[in-house]
Amino acid sequence: MTRPHLLFAGNLRAAGIPHAFTTRQGGSSTGPFASLNLGRGVDDDPETVATNRRAVLQTLGLRPAQHVEADQVHGSVVAVVGAEDAGRSIAGADGLVTADPGLALAIHAADCVPLLLADPKRRVVAALHAGWKGTAAGIAVEGVRILADRFKSNPRDLLAAIGPSIGPCHYEVDEPVMERMRRWRWWPEVAAANGRQRWQLDLRAACRRQLLDAGLLPRRIEVLDLCTYDHPDLFYSYRRDRVTGRMAAVVAVPTAGRRAP
Ligand SMILES: [Zn+2]
Repeated sequence: MTRPHLLFAGNLRAAGIPHAFTTRQGGSSTGPFASLNLGRGVDDDPETVATNRRAVLQTLGLRPAQHVEADQVHGSVVAVVGAEDAGRSIAGADGLVTADPGLALAIHAADCVPLLLADPKRRVVAALHAGWKGTAAGIAVEGVRILADRFKSNPRDLLAAIGPSIGPCHYEVDEPVMERMRRWRWWPEVAAANGRQRWQLDLRAACRRQLLDAGLLPRRIEVLDLCTYDHPDLFYSYRRDRVTGRMAAVVAVPTAGRRAP
């Protein structure tokens, strides 16, 4: 029996927030989905995906039934969910927020940016999925706004972790994408012309800039600087492989008295 190979953010770990960014290692899927595929929207065996998901949540000390995912439509809707939503996939949402202890929020990706937020003071967490459309629409800003409006979070208290995703080294985009990105005044910091009438876009840097715009402190934002395309042994990459699995980013509010793994 293999164990899921998970990555953690030092800032969330230090705060005792149960969380992980999964890799493709340590699961039961085979072929192009080998081995820790957590995505249901791909052509993998659903039973095997369920087994992989259980293994990840159990490794984190979370109850597999207490799990909510987002439908992920490449928008910027961030939904507040609670224990009553366990087992559901939230339609129309690319981000999830909860204050219910032990309820695992999960978003899935294979190149897009997985972004986790936690407010240790207000005891609320968020998981966001940011592809280029969600990034252009400002989903990171929207996630912070929901935490501030609905849970009275002070952005200066928030911890953020930006997970493995396709890096600017491999993320070439065209003019229609750049048109949407130019609404952000700092766009030249996150995109570089590559001489082929196209651009290399740094989605992680764009998400980080949005978090700063939303009032987060730079030292509370951790970026796992790993390109999914660059590491076929460690990560799925849609742009590299097309037919492939999905990693997950998972986060939960700690239940009283428990310690994060
Ligand atoms: Zn790369």
